[in-house]
Amino acid sequence: MTAPTPRELDPALPIAVDEGVWWVGHYVEGDAFQCHAYLVETADGGVLLDPGSVLTWPSTRAKIQQIMPLDQVRWVVAHHQDPDVIGALRDIEADLPGPVTVITHWRIETIIHSYGATLPLLRVEEHDWTLTLGGRRFDFVFTPYAHFPGAFCTFDGQTGTLFSSDLFGAFTEGFQLYAEAPDYLAQVLPFHQHYMPGREVLMHAMARIRQHPVRRIAPQHGSIIEGDAQVTFLCDRLSELECGLYLLADVGKDIARISKVRGELTRLTRTVLGTHAFADVIASVADSVGELLPLDLIEVFAHLDDASCLHFEPLSQYRGRVKPQPAHLMALASSGGVLNLVTLDGAPALLVPLASCDDATAGGLPGGALPVAASALLVVRLRAAPDARQPALTEDAAAYLTQAREVLLAAVSKAAELRALELQRTHWIERSMRDELTGLYNRLYLHVGVKQLLEQARRSMANPLALLMVDLDHFKHVNDTYGHVAGDQVLAAVGGAIRGAIRQVDIPVRLGGEEFAVFTGGNRNALTVAQRIHTAIGDLRFDGDIAALRITASIGVAHFQADDTLETLTTRADARLYTAKRAGRDRISVG
Ligand code: GH3
Ligand code: MG
Ligand code: MG
Repeated sequence: MTAPTPRELDPALPIAVDEGVWWVGHYVEGDAFQCHAYLVETADGGVLLDPGSVLTWPSTRAKIQQIMPLDQVRWVVAHHQDPDVIGALRDIEADLPGPVTVITHWRIETIIHSYGATLPLLRVEEHDWTLTLGGRRFDFVFTPYAHFPGAFCTFDGQTGTLFSSDLFGAFTEGFQLYAEAPDYLAQVLPFHQHYMPGREVLMHAMARIRQHPVRRIAPQHGSIIEGDAQVTFLCDRLSELECGLYLLADVGKDIARISKVRGELTRLTRTVLGTHAFADVIASVADSVGELLPLDLIEVFAHLDDASCLHFEPLSQYRGRVKPQPAHLMALASSGGVLNLVTLDGAPALLVPLASCDDATAGGLPGGALPVAASALLVVRLRAAPDARQPALTEDAAAYLTQAREVLLAAVSKAAELRALELQRTHWIERSMRDELTGLYNRLYLHVGVKQLLEQARRSMANPLALLMVDLDHFKHVNDTYGHVAGDQVLAAVGGAIRGAIRQVDIPVRLGGEEFAVFTGGNRNALTVAQRIHTAIGDLRFDGDIAALRITASIGVAHFQADDTLETLTTRADARLYTAKRAGRDRISVG
Protein backbone atom coordinates (compact mmCIF):
# COMPACT_ATOMS: atom_id res chain seq x y z
CA MET A 1 0.00 0.00 0.00
CA THR A 2 1.33 3.43 -0.90
CA ALA A 3 1.03 6.52 1.26
CA PRO A 4 -2.34 8.26 1.03
CA THR A 5 -2.67 11.28 -1.24
CA PRO A 6 -3.14 14.71 0.45
CA ARG A 7 -6.86 14.57 -0.39
CA GLU A 8 -7.15 11.43 1.74
CA LEU A 9 -5.39 13.08 4.66
CA ASP A 10 -8.44 14.49 6.34
CA PRO A 11 -7.88 14.60 10.11
CA ALA A 12 -11.62 14.43 10.65
CA LEU A 13 -11.58 10.85 9.35
CA PRO A 14 -9.60 7.70 10.19
CA ILE A 15 -6.63 7.43 7.78
CA ALA A 16 -5.42 4.07 6.45
CA VAL A 17 -1.67 3.90 6.95
CA ASP A 18 -1.25 0.32 5.69
CA GLU A 19 -3.19 -2.95 5.46
CA GLY A 20 -5.18 -3.04 8.71
CA VAL A 21 -3.27 -0.09 10.20
CA TRP A 22 -5.21 3.11 10.88
CA TRP A 23 -4.47 6.58 12.16
CA VAL A 24 -7.23 7.40 14.63
CA GLY A 25 -5.76 10.51 16.28
CA HIS A 26 -7.30 13.90 16.79
CA TYR A 27 -6.07 17.13 15.23
CA VAL A 28 -6.08 20.06 17.64
CA GLU A 29 -6.01 23.34 15.74
CA GLY A 30 -2.87 25.44 16.35
CA ASP A 31 -1.20 22.81 18.54
CA ALA A 32 2.36 21.98 17.54
CA PHE A 33 2.20 18.99 19.82
CA GLN A 34 -0.15 16.83 17.78
CA CYS A 35 -0.94 13.41 19.25
CA HIS A 36 -1.44 10.38 17.08
CA ALA A 37 -3.29 7.26 18.12
CA TYR A 38 -3.23 4.16 15.89
CA LEU A 39 -5.52 1.16 15.55
CA VAL A 40 -4.28 -2.17 14.19
CA GLU A 41 -6.78 -4.82 13.10
CA THR A 42 -6.19 -8.49 13.94
CA ALA A 43 -8.32 -11.58 13.43
CA ASP A 44 -9.54 -11.31 17.03
CA GLY A 45 -10.11 -7.57 17.24
CA GLY A 46 -8.37 -4.23 17.42
CA VAL A 47 -5.13 -3.14 19.07
CA LEU A 48 -5.22 0.52 20.04
CA LEU A 49 -1.80 2.16 20.45
CA ASP A 50 -1.21 5.17 22.70
CA PRO A 51 -4.93 6.11 22.74
CA GLY A 52 -4.50 9.69 23.98
CA SER A 53 -5.85 12.15 26.51
CA VAL A 54 -9.34 13.05 27.73
CA LEU A 55 -9.24 15.90 25.18
CA THR A 56 -8.69 13.71 22.15
CA TRP A 57 -10.41 10.46 23.15
CA PRO A 58 -13.95 11.35 22.01
CA SER A 59 -12.65 12.04 18.49
CA THR A 60 -10.49 8.88 18.50
CA ARG A 61 -13.47 6.86 19.73
CA ALA A 62 -15.58 8.19 16.85
CA LYS A 63 -12.90 7.25 14.32
CA ILE A 64 -12.57 3.73 15.76
CA GLN A 65 -16.28 3.27 15.35
CA GLN A 66 -15.91 3.93 11.63
CA ILE A 67 -13.51 0.98 11.45
CA MET A 68 -14.93 -1.53 13.92
CA PRO A 69 -17.52 -1.71 16.73
CA LEU A 70 -16.06 -0.55 20.06
CA ASP A 71 -16.55 -3.99 21.64
CA GLN A 72 -14.03 -5.40 19.16
CA VAL A 73 -11.18 -3.34 20.58
CA ARG A 74 -9.38 -5.89 22.72
CA TRP A 75 -5.98 -4.43 23.53
CA VAL A 76 -4.58 -1.03 24.39
CA VAL A 77 -0.80 -0.55 24.14
CA ALA A 78 0.65 2.06 26.51
CA HIS A 79 4.23 2.83 25.42
CA HIS A 80 4.69 5.67 27.78
CA GLN A 81 3.16 7.21 30.88
CA ASP A 82 2.37 10.76 29.74
CA PRO A 83 -1.22 12.09 30.09
CA ASP A 84 -1.35 12.85 26.36
CA VAL A 85 -0.70 9.14 25.74
CA ILE A 86 -2.83 7.36 28.32
CA GLY A 87 -4.62 10.12 30.25
CA ALA A 88 -7.95 8.90 28.89
CA LEU A 89 -7.59 5.31 30.16
CA ARG A 90 -10.40 5.70 32.67
CA ASP A 91 -12.78 6.97 29.97
CA ILE A 92 -11.54 4.25 27.63
CA GLU A 93 -12.30 1.65 30.25
CA ALA A 94 -15.82 3.05 30.56
CA ASP A 95 -16.37 3.32 26.77
CA LEU A 96 -14.97 0.00 25.57
CA PRO A 97 -17.23 -2.89 26.56
CA GLY A 98 -14.25 -5.23 26.53
CA PRO A 99 -12.75 -7.47 27.59
CA VAL A 100 -9.80 -5.06 27.16
CA THR A 101 -6.23 -5.65 28.32
CA VAL A 102 -3.59 -2.94 28.62
CA ILE A 103 -0.22 -4.02 27.24
CA THR A 104 2.55 -2.11 28.95
CA HIS A 105 5.77 -2.15 30.99
CA TRP A 106 5.80 -2.51 34.77
CA ARG A 107 7.15 1.00 35.26
CA ILE A 108 4.01 2.46 33.73
CA GLU A 109 1.62 0.50 35.97
CA THR A 110 1.53 2.83 38.95
CA ILE A 111 0.67 5.78 36.79
CA ILE A 112 -2.07 3.83 35.02
CA HIS A 113 -3.62 3.20 38.44
CA SER A 114 -3.24 6.88 39.28
CA TYR A 115 -5.35 7.71 36.24
CA GLY A 116 -8.05 5.64 37.91
CA ALA A 117 -8.03 2.80 35.39
CA THR A 118 -8.52 -0.76 36.64
CA LEU A 119 -8.14 -2.61 33.33
CA PRO A 120 -6.12 -5.84 33.52
CA LEU A 121 -2.46 -5.35 32.57
CA LEU A 122 -0.10 -7.50 30.54
CA ARG A 123 3.59 -6.75 31.02
CA VAL A 124 5.71 -7.07 27.88
CA GLU A 125 8.87 -7.90 29.81
CA GLU A 126 7.11 -11.00 31.18
CA HIS A 127 6.39 -12.21 27.65
CA ASP A 128 9.87 -12.09 26.25
CA TRP A 129 9.02 -8.78 24.54
CA THR A 130 6.77 -10.38 21.97
CA LEU A 131 3.04 -11.17 21.73
CA THR A 132 0.83 -12.68 19.04
CA LEU A 133 -2.53 -10.96 19.19
CA GLY A 134 -5.31 -12.33 16.97
CA GLY A 135 -2.72 -14.11 14.82
CA ARG A 136 -0.65 -10.93 14.33
CA ARG A 137 2.79 -10.84 15.89
CA PHE A 138 4.02 -7.76 17.69
CA ASP A 139 7.59 -7.29 18.91
CA PHE A 140 8.30 -4.80 21.65
CA VAL A 141 11.55 -2.86 21.63
CA PHE A 142 12.70 -1.60 25.01
CA THR A 143 14.06 1.92 24.68
CA PRO A 144 14.57 2.89 28.34
CA TYR A 145 15.00 6.55 29.25
CA ALA A 146 14.12 7.60 25.73
CA HIS A 147 11.77 10.10 27.44
CA PHE A 148 10.77 7.63 30.17
CA PRO A 149 12.48 4.80 32.13
CA GLY A 150 9.93 2.20 30.98
CA ALA A 151 9.50 3.46 27.43
CA PHE A 152 9.19 0.94 24.61
CA CYS A 153 8.11 0.77 20.98
CA THR A 154 5.96 -1.78 19.15
CA PHE A 155 7.01 -3.35 15.86
CA ASP A 156 4.36 -4.83 13.58
CA GLY A 157 6.32 -7.20 11.32
CA GLN A 158 3.39 -7.66 8.93
CA THR A 159 3.61 -4.08 7.68
CA GLY A 160 7.11 -3.17 8.91
CA THR A 161 5.60 -0.43 11.06
CA LEU A 162 7.29 0.72 14.24
CA PHE A 163 4.85 2.46 16.59
CA SER A 164 6.77 4.72 18.90
CA SER A 165 5.60 7.12 21.53
CA ASP A 166 7.89 10.12 21.99
CA LEU A 167 11.02 8.58 20.56
CA PHE A 168 10.58 9.80 16.98
CA GLY A 169 8.48 12.74 18.03
CA ALA A 170 8.61 16.11 16.34
CA PHE A 171 6.94 19.49 16.39
CA THR A 172 4.80 20.16 13.34
CA GLU A 173 2.90 23.13 12.07
CA GLY A 174 -0.63 22.16 11.21
CA PHE A 175 -1.63 18.62 10.35
CA GLN A 176 1.34 16.90 8.71
CA LEU A 177 0.72 13.19 9.02
CA TYR A 178 3.58 12.31 6.64
CA ALA A 179 7.08 13.70 7.03
CA GLU A 180 8.60 15.51 4.10
CA ALA A 181 12.28 14.66 3.89
CA PRO A 182 14.75 16.00 4.69
CA ASP A 183 13.61 19.03 6.69
CA TYR A 184 11.63 16.80 9.00
CA LEU A 185 14.89 16.26 10.86
CA ALA A 186 14.90 19.93 11.87
CA GLN A 187 11.51 19.39 13.52
CA VAL A 188 12.77 16.28 15.32
CA LEU A 189 15.88 17.86 16.79
CA PRO A 190 14.33 20.32 19.28
CA PHE A 191 12.18 17.47 20.55
CA HIS A 192 15.25 15.39 21.33
CA GLN A 193 17.53 18.15 22.47
CA HIS A 194 14.97 19.11 25.09
CA TYR A 195 13.75 15.67 26.14
CA MET A 196 16.57 13.19 25.85
CA PRO A 197 18.71 12.59 28.93
CA GLY A 198 21.79 12.04 26.79
CA ARG A 199 23.37 10.79 23.61
CA GLU A 200 24.11 7.23 24.77
CA VAL A 201 20.44 6.69 25.62
CA LEU A 202 19.44 7.61 22.10
CA MET A 203 22.23 5.55 20.53
CA HIS A 204 21.12 2.51 22.48
CA ALA A 205 17.50 2.96 21.38
CA MET A 206 18.55 3.30 17.72
CA ALA A 207 20.74 0.21 17.92
CA ARG A 208 17.83 -1.85 19.30
CA ILE A 209 15.41 -0.53 16.70
CA ARG A 210 17.81 -1.31 13.86
CA GLN A 211 17.52 -4.98 14.77
CA HIS A 212 14.08 -4.93 13.15
CA PRO A 213 13.27 -4.45 9.45
CA VAL A 214 11.50 -1.13 9.96
CA ARG A 215 9.95 0.36 6.80
CA ARG A 216 7.79 2.97 8.49
CA ILE A 217 7.82 4.79 11.81
CA ALA A 218 4.45 5.83 13.21
CA PRO A 219 5.18 8.14 16.13
CA GLN A 220 2.78 9.53 18.70
CA HIS A 221 3.88 13.12 17.95
CA GLY A 222 4.96 14.70 14.68
CA SER A 223 4.74 12.87 11.37
CA ILE A 224 4.91 9.35 9.99
CA ILE A 225 8.31 8.52 8.50
CA GLU A 226 7.65 6.45 5.43
CA GLY A 227 10.07 4.20 3.49
CA ASP A 228 13.51 2.63 4.02
CA ALA A 229 15.47 5.69 2.90
CA GLN A 230 13.78 8.10 5.29
CA VAL A 231 13.83 5.61 8.16
CA THR A 232 17.56 4.95 7.68
CA PHE A 233 18.36 8.64 7.31
CA LEU A 234 16.55 9.54 10.50
CA CYS A 235 18.00 6.64 12.51
CA ASP A 236 21.52 7.51 11.28
CA ARG A 237 21.15 11.14 12.28
CA LEU A 238 19.65 10.35 15.66
CA SER A 239 22.38 7.76 16.35
CA GLU A 240 25.00 10.48 16.19
CA LEU A 241 22.98 13.36 17.62
CA GLU A 242 24.71 15.25 20.40
CA CYS A 243 21.76 15.73 22.71
CA GLY A 244 20.70 15.85 26.30
CA LEU A 245 19.03 18.31 28.58
CA TYR A 246 22.36 19.39 30.00
CA LEU A 247 23.26 20.91 26.65
CA LEU A 248 20.61 23.58 27.20
CA ALA A 249 20.90 24.11 30.92
CA ASP A 250 23.51 26.59 32.16
CA VAL A 251 24.27 24.48 35.18
CA GLY A 252 24.96 21.53 32.91
CA LYS A 253 27.77 23.05 30.83
CA ASP A 254 30.35 21.04 32.75
CA ILE A 255 28.70 17.78 31.79
CA ALA A 256 28.72 18.82 28.16
CA ARG A 257 32.40 19.64 28.40
CA ILE A 258 33.31 16.44 30.16
CA SER A 259 31.38 14.52 27.57
CA LYS A 260 33.29 16.31 24.80
CA VAL A 261 36.69 15.62 26.35
CA ARG A 262 35.71 12.00 26.86
CA GLY A 263 34.66 11.77 23.21
CA GLU A 264 38.07 13.10 22.12
CA LEU A 265 39.87 10.62 24.36
CA THR A 266 37.82 7.77 22.93
CA ARG A 267 38.80 8.90 19.45
CA LEU A 268 42.47 8.93 20.43
CA THR A 269 42.25 5.44 21.93
CA ARG A 270 40.60 4.12 18.78
CA THR A 271 43.33 5.67 16.65
CA VAL A 272 46.07 4.16 18.82
CA LEU A 273 44.48 0.73 18.62
CA GLY A 274 43.66 0.93 14.94
CA THR A 275 46.80 2.31 13.33
CA HIS A 276 50.51 1.58 13.08
CA ALA A 277 51.26 5.09 11.90
CA PHE A 278 52.36 7.26 14.79
CA ALA A 279 51.67 10.32 12.62
CA ASP A 280 47.95 9.42 12.74
CA VAL A 281 48.03 9.30 16.53
CA ILE A 282 49.65 12.73 16.66
CA ALA A 283 47.14 14.03 14.11
CA SER A 284 44.33 12.94 16.43
CA VAL A 285 45.95 14.72 19.39
CA ALA A 286 46.57 17.79 17.22
CA ASP A 287 42.91 17.86 16.15
CA SER A 288 41.70 17.75 19.73
CA VAL A 289 44.27 20.16 21.18
CA GLY A 290 43.96 22.48 18.18
CA GLU A 291 40.34 23.11 19.07
CA LEU A 292 41.28 24.21 22.56
CA LEU A 293 44.66 25.96 22.24
CA PRO A 294 46.56 27.94 19.54
CA LEU A 295 48.53 24.86 18.50
CA ASP A 296 51.66 25.19 16.39
CA LEU A 297 53.10 21.68 16.36
CA ILE A 298 53.65 18.60 18.48
CA GLU A 299 56.92 16.78 19.11
CA VAL A 300 57.61 13.68 21.17
CA PHE A 301 60.86 12.48 22.69
CA ALA A 302 60.85 8.77 23.61
CA HIS A 303 63.72 8.04 25.97
CA LEU A 304 65.82 5.04 25.00
CA ASP A 305 68.56 5.24 27.60
CA ASP A 306 70.30 7.87 29.70
CA ALA A 307 71.90 9.49 26.70
CA SER A 308 69.69 8.96 23.68
CA CYS A 309 66.10 9.21 22.62
CA LEU A 310 63.92 8.92 19.54
CA HIS A 311 62.66 12.28 18.39
CA PHE A 312 59.32 12.26 16.59
CA GLU A 313 58.55 15.51 14.79
CA PRO A 314 56.75 16.78 11.69
CA LEU A 315 59.91 17.20 9.57
CA SER A 316 60.48 13.42 9.53
CA GLN A 317 56.72 12.76 9.35
CA TYR A 318 56.97 11.44 12.91
CA ARG A 319 59.18 8.51 11.85
CA GLY A 320 61.53 8.98 14.79
CA ARG A 321 65.21 9.90 14.66
CA VAL A 322 67.86 9.01 17.21
CA LYS A 323 68.92 12.16 19.05
CA PRO A 324 70.68 12.98 22.31
CA GLN A 325 68.34 13.38 25.26
CA PRO A 326 66.90 16.93 25.31
CA ALA A 327 68.38 17.68 28.73
CA HIS A 328 67.12 21.29 28.89
CA LEU A 329 63.53 20.24 28.11
CA MET A 330 63.65 17.46 30.66
CA ALA A 331 64.93 19.86 33.28
CA LEU A 332 62.06 22.26 32.49
CA ALA A 333 59.53 19.43 32.56
CA SER A 334 60.73 17.99 35.82
CA SER A 335 60.18 21.26 37.62
CA GLY A 336 56.41 21.11 37.47
CA GLY A 337 53.72 18.49 37.52
CA VAL A 338 51.83 16.87 34.70
CA LEU A 339 51.53 19.99 32.57
CA ASN A 340 54.29 22.57 32.39
CA LEU A 341 53.68 25.80 30.55
CA VAL A 342 57.10 27.13 29.51
CA THR A 343 58.65 29.39 26.90
CA LEU A 344 60.59 27.65 24.11
CA ASP A 345 62.26 29.61 21.32
CA GLY A 346 60.25 32.66 22.23
CA ALA A 347 56.88 30.92 22.06
CA PRO A 348 54.79 29.18 24.68
CA ALA A 349 54.90 25.41 24.91
CA LEU A 350 53.40 22.76 27.10
CA LEU A 351 55.70 20.04 28.34
CA VAL A 352 53.85 16.90 29.28
CA PRO A 353 55.96 14.08 30.74
CA LEU A 354 54.60 10.65 29.87
CA ALA A 355 55.80 8.04 32.30
CA SER A 356 54.83 4.53 33.12
CA CYS A 357 54.80 3.14 36.65
CA ASP A 358 56.05 -0.08 35.12
CA ASP A 359 59.73 0.81 34.81
CA ALA A 360 60.81 -1.28 31.84
CA THR A 361 64.53 -1.63 31.17
CA ALA A 362 65.69 0.50 28.34
CA GLY A 363 68.48 -0.52 25.99
CA GLY A 364 70.64 1.54 23.65
CA LEU A 365 70.70 1.74 19.92
CA PRO A 366 71.84 0.39 17.61
CA GLY A 367 72.62 -3.28 17.94
CA GLY A 368 71.79 -3.48 21.63
CA ALA A 369 68.71 -4.85 23.34
CA LEU A 370 65.39 -3.60 22.05
CA PRO A 371 64.50 -0.34 23.74
CA VAL A 372 61.15 0.11 25.40
CA ALA A 373 60.22 3.72 25.92
CA ALA A 374 59.23 3.62 29.57
CA SER A 375 59.03 7.35 29.56
CA ALA A 376 58.63 10.08 27.03
CA LEU A 377 58.10 13.79 26.77
CA LEU A 378 55.27 15.35 24.82
CA VAL A 379 56.03 18.88 23.65
CA VAL A 380 53.00 20.86 22.55
CA ARG A 381 54.30 24.00 20.91
CA LEU A 382 51.83 26.88 20.83
CA ARG A 383 51.70 30.06 18.80
CA ALA A 384 52.69 33.19 20.64
CA ALA A 385 49.90 35.69 21.13
CA PRO A 386 50.48 39.11 19.48
CA ASP A 387 50.65 40.74 22.92
CA ALA A 388 53.18 38.06 23.97
CA ARG A 389 50.92 36.94 26.78
CA GLN A 390 50.91 33.28 27.75
CA PRO A 391 47.79 31.50 26.46
CA ALA A 392 45.33 30.39 29.09
CA LEU A 393 45.61 26.67 29.63
CA THR A 394 41.91 25.89 29.51
CA GLU A 395 40.38 23.33 31.81
CA ASP A 396 39.39 21.19 28.84
CA ALA A 397 42.90 21.22 27.37
CA ALA A 398 44.33 20.31 30.77
CA ALA A 399 41.79 17.52 31.22
CA TYR A 400 42.42 16.12 27.76
CA LEU A 401 46.22 16.18 27.98
CA THR A 402 46.26 14.79 31.51
CA GLN A 403 43.96 11.93 30.66
CA ALA A 404 45.57 11.22 27.28
CA ARG A 405 48.97 10.48 28.83
CA GLU A 406 48.55 6.75 29.43
CA VAL A 407 47.21 6.07 25.96
CA LEU A 408 49.87 8.30 24.42
CA LEU A 409 52.66 6.53 26.24
CA ALA A 410 51.39 3.21 24.89
CA ALA A 411 51.38 4.68 21.39
CA VAL A 412 54.86 6.19 21.82
CA SER A 413 56.24 2.88 23.13
CA LYS A 414 54.80 1.03 20.16
CA ALA A 415 56.17 3.59 17.71
CA ALA A 416 59.58 3.59 19.42
CA GLU A 417 59.76 -0.19 19.36
CA LEU A 418 58.89 -0.41 15.66
CA ARG A 419 61.32 2.36 14.79
CA ALA A 420 64.10 0.77 16.86
CA LEU A 421 63.60 -2.52 15.04
CA GLU A 422 63.82 -0.72 11.74
CA LEU A 423 67.00 1.11 12.76
CA GLN A 424 68.57 -2.11 14.00
CA ARG A 425 67.81 -3.86 10.76
CA THR A 426 69.36 -1.02 8.77
CA HIS A 427 72.37 -1.10 11.07
CA TRP A 428 72.98 -4.82 10.59
CA ILE A 429 72.46 -4.64 6.84
CA GLU A 430 74.96 -1.79 6.71
CA ARG A 431 77.44 -3.73 8.85
CA SER A 432 77.17 -6.85 6.73
CA MET A 433 78.32 -4.78 3.78
CA ARG A 434 81.36 -3.29 5.48
CA ASP A 435 84.89 -4.65 5.75
CA GLU A 436 85.82 -4.56 9.41
CA LEU A 437 89.53 -3.93 9.03
CA THR A 438 89.37 -0.92 6.73
CA GLY A 439 85.81 0.34 7.21
CA LEU A 440 85.33 0.28 3.45
CA TYR A 441 82.53 -1.62 1.70
CA ASN A 442 83.07 -5.32 1.03
CA ARG A 443 82.37 -7.38 -2.08
CA LEU A 444 78.73 -7.99 -1.00
CA TYR A 445 78.05 -4.33 -1.53
CA LEU A 446 79.15 -4.49 -5.16
CA HIS A 447 75.93 -6.26 -6.03
CA VAL A 448 73.74 -3.67 -4.32
CA GLY A 449 75.29 -0.21 -4.48
CA VAL A 450 77.43 -0.52 -7.57
CA LYS A 451 74.68 -2.08 -9.68
CA GLN A 452 72.60 1.02 -9.01
CA LEU A 453 75.51 3.24 -9.94
CA LEU A 454 75.98 1.40 -13.24
CA GLU A 455 72.31 1.74 -14.07
CA GLN A 456 72.43 5.47 -13.40
CA ALA A 457 75.51 5.83 -15.58
CA ARG A 458 73.84 3.83 -18.34
CA ARG A 459 70.79 6.12 -18.24
CA SER A 460 72.83 9.30 -18.33
CA MET A 461 76.21 9.41 -19.99
CA ALA A 462 76.43 13.02 -18.81
CA ASN A 463 77.20 11.56 -15.43
CA PRO A 464 80.43 9.64 -16.16
CA LEU A 465 81.52 6.77 -13.97
CA ALA A 466 85.02 5.40 -13.57
CA LEU A 467 86.50 2.44 -11.76
CA LEU A 468 89.89 2.70 -10.04
CA MET A 469 91.65 -0.57 -9.16
CA VAL A 470 94.16 -0.02 -6.38
CA ASP A 471 96.73 -2.68 -5.44
CA LEU A 472 99.50 -2.18 -2.89
CA ASP A 473 102.99 -2.85 -4.19
CA HIS A 474 105.03 -5.73 -2.75
CA PHE A 475 102.70 -6.07 0.15
CA LYS A 476 103.76 -9.64 0.72
CA HIS A 477 107.10 -8.16 1.71
CA VAL A 478 105.43 -6.09 4.45
CA ASN A 479 103.89 -9.20 5.97
CA ASP A 480 107.07 -11.21 5.58
CA THR A 481 109.21 -8.52 7.20
CA TYR A 482 107.00 -7.08 9.92
CA GLY A 483 104.36 -9.73 10.47
CA HIS A 484 100.64 -9.94 9.82
CA VAL A 485 99.63 -7.62 12.65
CA ALA A 486 101.71 -4.83 11.16
CA GLY A 487 100.28 -5.76 7.74
CA ASP A 488 96.78 -5.33 9.10
CA GLN A 489 97.72 -2.01 10.62
CA VAL A 490 98.93 -0.83 7.22
CA LEU A 491 95.76 -2.05 5.50
CA ALA A 492 93.60 -0.15 7.99
CA ALA A 493 95.68 2.99 7.37
CA VAL A 494 95.31 2.56 3.61
CA GLY A 495 91.51 2.29 4.07
CA GLY A 496 91.61 5.64 5.91
CA ALA A 497 93.82 7.19 3.23
CA ILE A 498 91.42 6.12 0.47
CA ARG A 499 88.39 7.43 2.36
CA GLY A 500 90.14 10.74 2.93
CA ALA A 501 90.97 11.11 -0.76
CA ILE A 502 87.50 10.59 -2.17
CA ARG A 503 84.07 12.24 -1.88
CA GLN A 504 80.94 10.97 -0.15
CA VAL A 505 79.37 9.94 -3.45
CA ASP A 506 82.34 7.78 -4.42
CA ILE A 507 82.21 4.15 -3.40
CA PRO A 508 85.35 2.55 -1.94
CA VAL A 509 85.44 -1.25 -1.76
CA ARG A 510 87.99 -3.61 -0.31
CA LEU A 511 87.90 -6.41 -2.84
CA GLY A 512 90.10 -8.65 -0.69
CA GLY A 513 93.72 -8.78 0.50
CA GLU A 514 95.50 -5.56 -0.46
CA GLU A 515 93.26 -4.89 -3.44
CA PHE A 516 90.78 -2.05 -3.50
CA ALA A 517 88.27 -0.64 -5.98
CA VAL A 518 86.94 2.89 -6.02
CA PHE A 519 83.92 3.87 -8.10
CA THR A 520 83.84 7.57 -8.80
CA GLY A 521 80.72 9.31 -10.03
CA GLY A 522 79.78 12.86 -10.90
CA ASN A 523 81.80 15.07 -13.21
CA ARG A 524 85.10 14.37 -11.57
CA ASN A 525 88.26 13.62 -13.42
CA ALA A 526 89.02 10.02 -12.50
CA LEU A 527 92.74 10.59 -12.99
CA THR A 528 92.71 13.37 -10.39
CA VAL A 529 91.00 11.07 -7.92
CA ALA A 530 93.56 8.33 -8.68
CA GLN A 531 96.38 10.80 -8.09
CA ARG A 532 94.93 11.88 -4.75
CA ILE A 533 94.65 8.26 -3.63
CA HIS A 534 98.15 7.46 -4.88
CA THR A 535 99.60 10.41 -3.00
CA ALA A 536 97.60 9.74 0.17
CA ILE A 537 98.91 6.16 0.30
CA GLY A 538 102.46 7.27 -0.50
CA ASP A 539 102.31 9.85 2.28
CA LEU A 540 101.30 7.33 4.96
CA ARG A 541 103.68 7.30 7.94
CA PHE A 542 103.72 4.81 10.80
CA ASP A 543 105.02 4.63 14.34
CA GLY A 544 107.20 2.16 16.21
CA ASP A 545 108.75 -0.87 14.46
CA ILE A 546 107.39 0.14 11.09
CA ALA A 547 108.31 3.81 11.26
CA ALA A 548 110.61 3.41 8.28
CA LEU A 549 107.96 1.70 6.18
CA ARG A 550 106.81 3.40 3.00
CA ILE A 551 103.88 2.09 1.01
CA THR A 552 103.19 2.59 -2.63
CA ALA A 553 100.25 1.58 -4.76
CA SER A 554 99.62 0.85 -8.40
CA ILE A 555 96.32 2.06 -9.81
CA GLY A 556 94.45 1.11 -13.00
CA VAL A 557 91.68 3.41 -14.20
CA ALA A 558 88.85 2.47 -16.60
CA HIS A 559 86.03 4.76 -17.74
CA PHE A 560 82.49 3.46 -18.04
CA GLN A 561 81.25 2.80 -21.57
CA ALA A 562 77.63 2.51 -22.60
CA ASP A 563 77.56 -1.28 -22.96
CA ASP A 564 79.66 -2.02 -19.87
CA THR A 565 78.66 -4.50 -17.20
CA LEU A 566 80.40 -4.68 -13.84
CA GLU A 567 82.50 -7.53 -15.23
CA THR A 568 83.66 -5.76 -18.43
CA LEU A 569 84.44 -2.55 -16.54
CA THR A 570 86.41 -4.53 -13.94
CA THR A 571 88.31 -6.43 -16.61
CA ARG A 572 89.48 -3.18 -18.25
CA ALA A 573 90.46 -1.59 -14.93
CA ASP A 574 92.38 -4.79 -14.03
CA ALA A 575 94.20 -4.66 -17.36
CA ARG A 576 95.30 -1.08 -16.62
CA LEU A 577 96.47 -2.14 -13.16
CA TYR A 578 98.52 -4.92 -14.72
CA THR A 579 100.03 -2.38 -17.09
CA ALA A 580 100.96 -0.14 -14.12
CA LYS A 581 102.55 -3.10 -12.30
CA ARG A 582 104.52 -4.17 -15.36
CA ALA A 583 105.73 -0.66 -15.98
CA GLY A 584 107.46 -0.73 -12.56
CA ARG A 585 104.65 -0.18 -9.98
CA ASP A 586 103.98 2.97 -7.90
CA ARG A 587 102.10 4.58 -10.76
CA ILE A 588 98.74 5.11 -12.43
CA SER A 589 97.61 3.74 -15.77
CA VAL A 590 94.50 5.13 -17.46
CA GLY A 591 92.59 3.24 -20.14
P1 GH3 B 1 102.37 -6.86 -6.12
O1 GH3 B 1 103.19 -5.64 -6.05
O2 GH3 B 1 102.66 -7.63 -7.38
O3 GH3 B 1 100.95 -6.59 -5.94
O4 GH3 B 1 102.92 -7.77 -4.97
P2 GH3 B 1 102.14 -8.16 -3.66
O5 GH3 B 1 103.08 -8.80 -2.75
O6 GH3 B 1 101.45 -6.97 -3.11
O7 GH3 B 1 101.09 -9.13 -4.21
P3 GH3 B 1 100.59 -10.57 -3.84
O8 GH3 B 1 99.26 -10.74 -4.46
O9 GH3 B 1 101.69 -11.53 -4.27
O10 GH3 B 1 100.54 -10.65 -2.31
C1 GH3 B 1 99.48 -10.06 -1.57
C2 GH3 B 1 99.73 -10.30 -0.14
O11 GH3 B 1 98.80 -9.58 0.67
C3 GH3 B 1 99.60 -11.73 0.29
C4 GH3 B 1 99.18 -11.68 1.73
O12 GH3 B 1 100.32 -11.92 2.55
C5 GH3 B 1 98.77 -10.24 1.91
N1 GH3 B 1 97.45 -10.17 2.46
C6 GH3 B 1 96.27 -10.45 1.85
N2 GH3 B 1 95.23 -10.23 2.70
C7 GH3 B 1 95.78 -9.78 3.86
C8 GH3 B 1 95.26 -9.38 5.11
O13 GH3 B 1 94.06 -9.39 5.35
N3 GH3 B 1 96.12 -8.99 6.07
C9 GH3 B 1 97.45 -9.00 5.87
N4 GH3 B 1 98.27 -8.59 6.85
N5 GH3 B 1 97.97 -9.35 4.72
C10 GH3 B 1 97.16 -9.75 3.72
MG1 MG C 1 100.02 -6.23 -4.36
MG1 MG D 1 97.41 -8.29 -5.04
